Amino acid sequence: MINIEHLDKTYHLKNADVHAVDDVSLHIESGQIYGVIGYSGAGKSTLVRCLNFLEIPDSGSIEIEGFGKVNAKQGSLDISQKKLRELRRSIGMIFQHFNLLDRSTVLDNVAYPLKYTGLSKKEIETRVDELLDLVDLADKKYVYPSQLSGGQQQRVTIGRAIANKPMVLIADEPTGNLDPEKSLEIITLLEKINKKLDTTIMMVTHDKVLVDRFKKRTIMLDKGYVIHDSNRGGYKSL
Ligand code: ADP
Ligand code: MG
Repeated sequence: MINIEHLDKTYHLKNADVHAVDDVSLHIESGQIYGVIGYSGAGKSTLVRCLNFLEIPDSGSIEIEGFGKVNAKQGSLDISQKKLRELRRSIGMIFQHFNLLDRSTVLDNVAYPLKYTGLSKKEIETRVDELLDLVDLADKKYVYPSQLSGGQQQRVTIGRAIANKPMVLIADEPTGNLDPEKSLEIITLLEKINKKLDTTIMMVTHDKVLVDRFKKRTIMLDKGYVIHDSNRGGYKSL
C-alpha cells in the first residue's frame, strides 16, 4: 500500500518558481499496477522520484507499507538515514534510458545491486540465473549491453531493478525509447512480474496503448496537479 497526501515540490529557478508537484494525493493498493499519465513537464518524474526520496518533497507525507508514514516539512524528512536506506532498497526503478554498465556483462549488470547484500558469489550467480530466466535473457548472460537490442537492454534493467525483490517498482516511461512491438514486450514482462512476485508497480507513461491498458487505475497530472484520479472518479477543476 502506498498513500501520498498533499505532496508538494517546487523548484526555485532564477526567474520563476516551478510547482512540479502541487498538492498531490493518491492511494495505491499493494499488488496494483498504477499508471501515472500526463504531458511532458506535468510533474510525473518528480512525483515518482519523491517516492524513494531521490527528490525531497517540500511538504506532505508518503506512507509505504512496512515503513510507516514519512512526513516532509520544509524540505526535511522525519525518517532516519538507516530506515531511508532500507526504504530505497525496497523500491526498484527503471527509466527510459537504460543506464547499463557498458563494460560489464549482463551477468554483472544484474548482479550489481546484490554486491553488498552479504550473499556469496555463488548465491549471487544463482539469483542472477533466476532473474535472467524471469526476464527471458538466460542465453545472454555473458553478453555486453552493446550487443543487445533496446528491448533486451530494458529487460536487463528490469532484472537489475528487481534483484533485491523490491515491494515497489517504479517504471518512469520504460518504453519511451522502444518501438510499439518492444514496448508491448516490456509491458507484458512487467505484468508477469506483478503477478508472479506481487510487486506493486507505479508506471509513468504517455504511450496511448499503455494508457488504455491502465485506464482503470491511473492518475493524470497536469502542471503538477492531479486532474484525474480513477480511484476517486471525476475531474478536479483547475
Ligand atoms: P514530467 O516527468 O511529467 O515530464 P518533470 O517532473 O520532469 O515532468 O518536470 C516537472 C516540472 O519541473 C517541469 O517544468 C520541469 O522543467 C521542472 N523540473 C524538473 N526537474 C527539475 C530540476 N531538477 N530543477 C528545476 N526544474 C525541474
Ligand atoms: Mg519525466
